[in-house]
Amino acid sequence: MKGSWQIVRIAGIDVKIHVTFVFILIWFGLSAYLTGGSIAAAMTNLLLILTLFLFVTLHEFGHALTARLFGIKTTDITLLPIGGIARLEQMPEDPKEELLVAAAGPAVNLVIAAGLFTGLLLGGFFSQPLNLAVMMNNFWLQLLIANITLVLFNLVPAFPMDGGRILRSGLALWMDHVKATRIAAHIGRGLAVLMGLAGIFINPWLILTAVFVWFGAGAEAQTVELKAGLKGLVVRDAMISQFYQVDANQPLVDVFHLVMTTGQYNIPVVSNGNFLGIIRRGDLQRAMEQLGNRAPAYAAIGTEPDGLEPTMPLIDALPKFSASQVLPVLEGRQLVGLLTRESLQQRIWLNQRTGGSNKTKPTGESTDIA
Ligand SMILES: [Zn+2]
Repeated sequence: MKGSWQIVRIAGIDVKIHVTFVFILIWFGLSAYLTGGSIAAAMTNLLLILTLFLFVTLHEFGHALTARLFGIKTTDITLLPIGGIARLEQMPEDPKEELLVAAAGPAVNLVIAAGLFTGLLLGGFFSQPLNLAVMMNNFWLQLLIANITLVLFNLVPAFPMDGGRILRSGLALWMDHVKATRIAAHIGRGLAVLMGLAGIFINPWLILTAVFVWFGAGAEAQTVELKAGLKGLVVRDAMISQFYQVDANQPLVDVFHLVMTTGQYNIPVVSNGNFLGIIRRGDLQRAMEQLGNRAPAYAAIGTEPDGLEPTMPLIDALPKFSASQVLPVLEGRQLVGLLTRESLQQRIWLNQRTGGSNKTKPTGESTDIA
């Protein structure tokens, strides 16, 4: 995550703090100093918050080390003002494994809370005369309450928070993964709205968490749906196999006419059957302005991303769209298709309607203009 510093590496996992985390330390210290009026009060408050975040870190290690049992690595653990984030390479697909990974975090805080409670009990804390003001000032009691709060808060079924993941994995035992995620994400978003509203009256941190839950739920649901939609498909299944292309030496004005008459805005350029590149939307007009109407087509080719192989899994092609909206599909140096966001979306739609059984047969033809 941007703006994070690594502070320590434990069990092969980097622990980082985000720059905003430092702000909250300053804010807590300062507010304690201003209300308590002493350096000692500020220090106690800082120590409390640091210890609390140590417990948050242990919570994240609960997730990370349980995931490791199932062969899943953790990239890093980052501490943010709203808590910690363990970046697992992936979530286990097996619902039982996900349930264990999700529950391991709150379980750590439960164990710590039990330890603190036992300590306070053995120390005679609960047998002293009841004085709420004195009791609430006790450092260890505050940590105990904080840990119990962590357990309860994380168990709120607001996907992608721990409780929401437990809910999703529970649902996934009864229905398919995508449907379970969809339901969990809906509930998560509903709870995010309530959390945000409650935050206005109770605590602004709740609003931050609500925003995190709202976007997190949406993003995860989208990824899961996309992955399910692309399962078993390769690039050939989603590529456009009928398209116009031009020869390298054809004048740009011909390319312009081709675009105007066909509505195909990205025109591949070939030479002796070999693919050279694509004249993309925008490239053509720029080239015509700078080089003139009679300049050869190859002069208008912009920077070309790597071609895709027809047998490549579609899911692996997704990240390549960040470089370009149209990707060439090549067999050797020969252009056999174009993959666009639209063709991909159409294929996912078809797959969802037919349950993945009805694969279209690509013809492998392309149309040249001469
Ligand atoms: Zn957690």
